[in-house]
Amino acid sequence: MATIFSGIQPTGEVHLGNYMGALRHWVSLSKRPEHEAFFSIVDCHAFTVPYDAKAFPKGVFETAVAVLAVGLDERATVFVQSDVPEHTELAWYLGCVAPMGELGRMTQFKEKSEQHKSSVGTGLFTYPILMAADILLYKATLVPVGHDQLQHLEFARDLARHFNHRFKTELFPEPKPHHLTLRIRGTDGGEKMSKSRNNTIAMLEPPQGIWKKLKGAFTDPQRVTREIPGRPEICNIYTMHTVVTPEPALTETIHAGCTTANIGCGDCKKLLAESLDRELAPVRERAAELRAQPKRVLEVLGDGASTCRARAAQTMAAVKEAAGVRGARSAP
Ligand code: SF4
Repeated sequence: MATIFSGIQPTGEVHLGNYMGALRHWVSLSKRPEHEAFFSIVDCHAFTVPYDAKAFPKGVFETAVAVLAVGLDERATVFVQSDVPEHTELAWYLGCVAPMGELGRMTQFKEKSEQHKSSVGTGLFTYPILMAADILLYKATLVPVGHDQLQHLEFARDLARHFNHRFKTELFPEPKPHHLTLRIRGTDGGEKMSKSRNNTIAMLEPPQGIWKKLKGAFTDPQRVTREIPGRPEICNIYTMHTVVTPEPALTETIHAGCTTANIGCGDCKKLLAESLDRELAPVRERAAELRAQPKRVLEVLGDGASTCRARAAQTMAAVKEAAGVRGARSAP
């Protein structure tokens, strides 16, 4: 049985990049009978950069709605990170065995500290320790990660080894990556869909909103006129088709149509809008039902947190035992 852990930050709306690149995989991974899965709305990670505290609870709720609307809670335990204080507690213990030098080499820290120059807190520097704690708290063995999180997962593996070695235990397994290779670019052609770059299409956006954004979205830059054949393999619209447009239409209409200039980019985008609507209409419907029953959402998150706290308490008891930390019980 593999234990899976993954998380999503509650900042900004869940967009098609999140849905196609991660959420869909989370759902299918969690459905495999040989897996048990924990998925967290990692709000403590969001504290590492400036954020709007007033808008924050709504962000957590809306992220929960999105995650539940895709059906993640059918097999997985879904919870909010700050509801399980053992995450930050374990982060302290792991921080004590974490080499400073390795932390300083984290690419994401360098990028984000550049981006938030005026307000770099220690939390941004130690973020990978908290991520390691998220994973190791549940002794997760498989972690779905995109390319940008691989370095952090490698660090979590190092911390598991450091802790085990320091305290002569085999408490923590070394988590392996489950590579998420699909990357959806922004509508502006940017490397990544990202709210901060204003190049996203929200997963729960109504069809008219999706179409408006698709219409202006970047395609193959060489295809400047309808008569010039396109290159689907470098086009973000085609990448999205591969996720939501089934065969034979994907190969026969979209790929062949593009490479022979039989279809224009406008037609291709219309077909994508239709495929997206087929895929996302039931998700939007479930999201509307969940928003109408906020208690139901809180119940699912509450149940998830209870399950996780029980599991986390066992791990922390073993961590303290291994580290010789027993509080008042340590009196000889
Ligand atoms: S026809 Fe479709 S796949 Fe080809 S370049 Fe245009 S949008 Fe991209």
